[in-house]
Amino acid sequence: MKFYDIIVVGAGIAGCSVAYFLNKRGLNVLVVDRAGVAVAGGSSAAGAFVSPKIGKGSSLQKLTNEAFEFAKDFYKEFFPKHFKQTGVVRMPKDDEDAQKFFEYAKYNSSVYQWLEENRLKEIGIKESNRSLFFTEAGICDAPNMCKALLTGIEYVQYDVKSLSYEDKIWSIGEYKSKKLILATGYENRFFDMRYMGVKGTWGTRGDYETKLSLDVSMHKKISISANIEGIVKVGATHAKEAHACLNCGADPLKELFTKASDMVDTSDFKAKGIFCGMRSGSKDYFPLVGSVIDVPLMLKEYPKLVRGERLKENPKKIDNLYVINGLGGRGFVFAPLMGKMLAENIVEEKAIDSRVNPDRLFLKWCRKSPELER
Ligand SMILES: Cc1cc2nc3c(=O)[nH]c(=O)nc-3n(C[C@H](O)[C@H](O)[C@H](O)COP(=O)(O)OP(=O)(O)OC[C@H]3O[C@@H](n4cnc5c(N)ncnc54)[C@H](O)[C@@H]3O)c2cc1C
Repeated sequence: MKFYDIIVVGAGIAGCSVAYFLNKRGLNVLVVDRAGVAVAGGSSAAGAFVSPKIGKGSSLQKLTNEAFEFAKDFYKEFFPKHFKQTGVVRMPKDDEDAQKFFEYAKYNSSVYQWLEENRLKEIGIKESNRSLFFTEAGICDAPNMCKALLTGIEYVQYDVKSLSYEDKIWSIGEYKSKKLILATGYENRFFDMRYMGVKGTWGTRGDYETKLSLDVSMHKKISISANIEGIVKVGATHAKEAHACLNCGADPLKELFTKASDMVDTSDFKAKGIFCGMRSGSKDYFPLVGSVIDVPLMLKEYPKLVRGERLKENPKKIDNLYVINGLGGRGFVFAPLMGKMLAENIVEEKAIDSRVNPDRLFLKWCRKSPELER
């Protein structure tokens, strides 16, 4: 029997990030994953671009860009080997979108330059619309970044099929701990967490061997990385609600390759690898970070919640259980800040930012979910 302060289930970028910040705070952490460190799930498929979100200042854009500022500084300072600050050129999708870019620039807080057609051509990008170049953005080597985050932290490959909580101790087979974090991506099968509305989006990325001289990464409808050690990453396709066992074959790559050929010279590209995975998003696209509501208990004790009754106290939680999930298409942007936030909540009892606290979704789910009888 082995005993830990905390067990993290899931070794994607979310689980690895929170484990890192807990370990830094002196906790004895075990990370378990059925497949390996970032070898399944979203984190294995991700191109792992780390760039800001453009838009007209929505609250999701603000949060994403706070996370972006934190992530790129964090990766650069502590894991420079696995983060290449290539910059990311953000191109308008079409002429109509190009008009919006002037507006977007007003709401942007990240360092940027405008690039005109002639400069884009010099860089190797086929684009006539004026584009935004985020010079501090970059790209992670996803599996090696996740492995580096776990340096000095115990990890075991283990498929968690069941878990139990007795006398204030969590048990997963022979492993025991005081606290438990679920960082399982789109899979949420251990507890009733329907109120978080986690859904999967299936995606594919292709890696190509090439001699193309390309120093910057870019995003239009798809993302293309800079040429890093002879490899250019192209991603991603998105298929909502697709099944995880979907056999992609080469079809998604054809679509990606056609789009990539409109953006850069792909004449010597040779397919080197295809990577697929499911990323998980929440109902409102904000991350899910914090403790987990005891749904069966709440529905039993407050049966009128489903008919709109207000709750005068905080919802009751499952003891010592936490979640870090719903990082959507920006796991490598969100994970460091979200991991730090959860570690601060667990160790220092600092309140979770209400924008990412899953509690925000509970009452609405009670009132609106067609799954509940009213
Ligand atoms: C094609 C594609 C491209 C993407 N590109 C980018 C990008 O450029 N930039 C970016 O920031 N984000 C990108 N994303 C999104 C990013 O990949 C996700 O947001 C991120 O990987 C989510 O990380 P996670 O740790 O929450 O989940 P995952 O990486 O899915 O990790 C969950 C882990 O939990 C494990 N697990 C689940 N259940 C169990 C169990 N019962 N027992 C043991 N282990 C279990 C799984 O094996 C898995 O390893 C992309 C996603 C895809 C699919």
